[in-house]
Amino acid sequence: MNVHPNATPESPPVAHRVGTLRRWFDTSTAAPVDTARGDRIDWLRASPFVVMHLACFGAIWTGVSPVALWVALALYAVRMFSLTAFYHRYFSHRTFRTSRPVQFVFALIGASCVQRGPLWWAAHHRHHHRHTDTLLDPHSPAVHGFLWSHVGWFLTPNGFRTEMARVPDLANYPELRWLDRFDTAIPVLLAIALFGLGKVLEHVAPGLGTTGWQMLVWGFFISTTVLFHATVTINSLAHRFGRRRFDTDDDSRNNVWLALLTFGEGWHNNHHFFPGTVRQGFRWWEIDLTYYGLRVMAWLGLVHDLKPIPAWVAAKAKR
Ligand SMILES: [Zn+2]
Ligand SMILES: [Zn+2]
Repeated sequence: MNVHPNATPESPPVAHRVGTLRRWFDTSTAAPVDTARGDRIDWLRASPFVVMHLACFGAIWTGVSPVALWVALALYAVRMFSLTAFYHRYFSHRTFRTSRPVQFVFALIGASCVQRGPLWWAAHHRHHHRHTDTLLDPHSPAVHGFLWSHVGWFLTPNGFRTEMARVPDLANYPELRWLDRFDTAIPVLLAIALFGLGKVLEHVAPGLGTTGWQMLVWGFFISTTVLFHATVTINSLAHRFGRRRFDTDDDSRNNVWLALLTFGEGWHNNHHFFPGTVRQGFRWWEIDLTYYGLRVMAWLGLVHDLKPIPAWVAAKAKR
């Protein structure tokens, strides 16, 4: 048999490609990972992400209707809240408490955002806080450049991996581990549900001008793609553009436009200075929609123990 001198029986390139395809559906598969290219973009694994962007152009053929537009906007808002309130402030930073059912419901909505499971998201984000804007930071624009921090770092074998040692508190929940393991399941179900809903409207209310394909393109692909780019501006733009209130050891900034777009996450210099509070707007005029939403949820009894801004931090923020 003619074997390349550097090839090993355990990890031939074909096995890597098969492993990649299997990871589209099951991230825990035992198939070998291409560790030699750990920091290079795995285009095969990333291709559904590329397709998600291309599918937005389907709007040229589907057109748009008020229903499809409102569904896209509503899904942006609900999912942005799930990402910022739960994936970020709850799973990554534990800044409030909730019940297991509420934790699961918002993990489920978060999982529909095509930003993978809560364990993956929190593990990488905790790593970002530990090593902000150093070589070990997975998405520092100062170290790796704008494009890599915005859209490159998570498309690599190292980026796709979840370091369980960083999220031992979350790994205790089998339902959260399931969302991480089968991270394409929930987005696919959402896409099918939107298509089905559009088909139903097509037949029962043709006057609305809404179709199945239109709901799929606007409700799923466009809403999810815009949601994705808005979220990752915090990795790329919020470490570049804006005001630095606190002299932190990183390049984090406060940026009102990003705060509006991401429901409060744009107060990123505040957040890097003191990540232990549920609030990211530290002054009354620093609009933080996620915090207001969590206050309403606390009033309804769905979440509790919202960690406030300590007095010494609030005093420092006034200077
Ligand atoms: Zn940051
Ligand atoms: Zn954070």
